[in-house]
Amino acid sequence: METIKHYGEDVFSEKAIRKYLKKPVADKLIATMKEYKALDPSIAEDVAQGMKNWAVDMGATHFTHWFQPLTGGTAEKHDSFLEPTGIASAVLDFSGKNLIGGEADASSFPTGGLRSTFEARGYTAWDPTSPAFIKRHENGATLCIPTVFCSYKGAALDTKTPLLRSIQAVTKATERLMKKFDQKKAHTSITLGAEQEYFLIDREYYLRRPDLLQTGRTVFGAAPAKHQQLDDHYYGSIRPRILKFMTEVEHRLWKLGIPAKTRHNEVAPAQFELAPMFEEINLAVDHNMLIMEVLRQTAENLGLVCLLHEKPFDGVNGSGKHCNWSLAYGGKNLLSPGDNPRDNAMFLTFLSAIIRAVDLHADMLRTTTAGAGNDHRLGANEAPPAIISIFLGDELTEVMASIEAGTKSRSRSKRKMRLGVDSLPPLPRDTTDRNRTSPFAFTGNKFEFRAPGASQNCAQSMMVLNTIVAESIDAVCDKLDAMKGDFNSNLQALLQRLIRKHKRVLFSGDGYSSDWPAEAARRNLPNFKDTPSAVLPLKDKANRELFAKYGVLSETEMESRYEIACEDYERRIRIEGEIALEMARGMIRPVVADEFSRLATAIGQATKDGLKMGVTGLKALSLKLGAGLDDLHVKCERLEKALSQKGFRHEGILRTMTDLRKTVDKLEHLVDDSRWPMPKYREMLFIY
Ligand code: ADP
Ligand code: MG
Repeated sequence: METIKHYGEDVFSEKAIRKYLKKPVADKLIATMKEYKALDPSIAEDVAQGMKNWAVDMGATHFTHWFQPLTGGTAEKHDSFLEPTGIASAVLDFSGKNLIGGEADASSFPTGGLRSTFEARGYTAWDPTSPAFIKRHENGATLCIPTVFCSYKGAALDTKTPLLRSIQAVTKATERLMKKFDQKKAHTSITLGAEQEYFLIDREYYLRRPDLLQTGRTVFGAAPAKHQQLDDHYYGSIRPRILKFMTEVEHRLWKLGIPAKTRHNEVAPAQFELAPMFEEINLAVDHNMLIMEVLRQTAENLGLVCLLHEKPFDGVNGSGKHCNWSLAYGGKNLLSPGDNPRDNAMFLTFLSAIIRAVDLHADMLRTTTAGAGNDHRLGANEAPPAIISIFLGDELTEVMASIEAGTKSRSRSKRKMRLGVDSLPPLPRDTTDRNRTSPFAFTGNKFEFRAPGASQNCAQSMMVLNTIVAESIDAVCDKLDAMKGDFNSNLQALLQRLIRKHKRVLFSGDGYSSDWPAEAARRNLPNFKDTPSAVLPLKDKANRELFAKYGVLSETEMESRYEIACEDYERRIRIEGEIALEMARGMIRPVVADEFSRLATAIGQATKDGLKMGVTGLKALSLKLGAGLDDLHVKCERLEKALSQKGFRHEGILRTMTDLRKTVDKLEHLVDDSRWPMPKYREMLFIY
């Protein structure tokens, strides 16, 4: 088989480690990386030297600790390897101390009260489970060392620390449950494959849209005659300019050891998707952050702009980040139905534990998908609803029903379903049995959490999913511990109870249908419609206790996430409101006024000249324009008032903004096309 020569070239990979480090040091470092062991501090100095030599050979002059603060993005601060040695002489050096930890003046990162500004230091600490890599730019390269980011007292100021803690929680719980199935201790891997959706538009357009520049989405723009009605973009043949972009992205990603696998056109015009092969969750999260960065940068190089906002264009599909998640033990996927009774029993136990977790903690899962951008997606009659439910597929639903009933399976074979004795009926693994309207769907050997937004750091969602699953696995173990007698019959009874209790979260119907919210309400499933309500579960006492119990987020860390989410939401909504106002008054109104006065002059002139025709048409248009102009004035005043209200009232700002948009979008069709002051949807979405 051919190898891809440049794959992983820019990563301090196993191959590079073995080349640049002595064998005992290399062995220790690789064991640390693969088995998530603590790093032996005595090798830090040697690792640092080897890593630096490699990086310098790769053209790097600087290094940075690379981390994921609570802004939702990534952060870096570069230091050169330079060490002066005498008069105008210097060497390149790097110490173990610089590798392992760093201090960053981080007073401007959001902390949600975790670190008062007078104590402005944040600390970065190497996360050896994610390999160091090289970032290139035109004039050189930088060695990037993935790190966590904490306050002096150890509070997590990033998304990675809690994720790593949640991995530990799942590992511990999984080992506990696997022991009950007499399985030898093995490595638990939580796997993630994050499908990334995005839009690409020509940079020329982008630069002429202040709303896109400032908020990532268009606050105005009339729907074009043709958008996605014909479904002709999805999986359509990829245009040459886009293909050039995609191949360049893949080339860069492969060099970074990121297994980009699938590329295609998405549903909306100018929308695309990139899916990598799944990896261990921590690495997959880091890789997703890099994917977003590479998408943005590559677009820029090619005169395009990559929009990762969840809803850049009103009226066409938004962009999500579908998080495919699974659990493996000793390399065996626990969510893959087995072909013997023991494996089936394990599979069904994990499945039931996950159902329980999602049912009990849907509120926390929903919280992690909250945000000003994603609010336009979730629940807006387009992928997926804000109500968290699980789709299992017909066959599995039937299996669960037969366990619940404790009697015969209603499947074709009509066998009795006894755990640990019977095999599962064959379950289809192809993609036909799909429900694209479900936020949390079982897809044959993994769950696909489809609610996270395209721009979000999926570490948050994954951290919550891990924690609630760990709690649920533990609850299953606790219950089994409390039961006496035969293991298989205990398990059977337990799963029966679990399904009975938590089946309300299972839903195979159409998640977009207007009946579903009412049905969900009858089932008592939470339905948080916007960010301000969706972040409230972070304040819930039971939730705080749960996350503290698993050592994933302390009470103050939860509070800080709450504050940051609220603050971020408020700022974004305000910026949107302000830019809408500025554009309406500064760009649109002058053009409309101008058009109106030209018309008035023309009408005056035509009447004076006694022209018989044309005056009616001109008058009709001027009436419409005049009404639009008045309307624009009123709507702008209202938005301005909403923005200047004391305190933050998001409903008022959003409502007046939507109202203003209606007026502006109507005017778009009334004004001379060549004078409209910004690119239209039909240009941005179709000409590239
Ligand atoms: P589909 O196209 O039907 O959604 P794919 O097999 O292409 O299914 O998977 C989509 C994403 O799910 C990919 O990123 C893939 O690597 C990932 N994936 C597949 N198996 C697993 C697994 N066991 N754990 C996590 N992610 C997985
Ligand atoms: Mg998919």
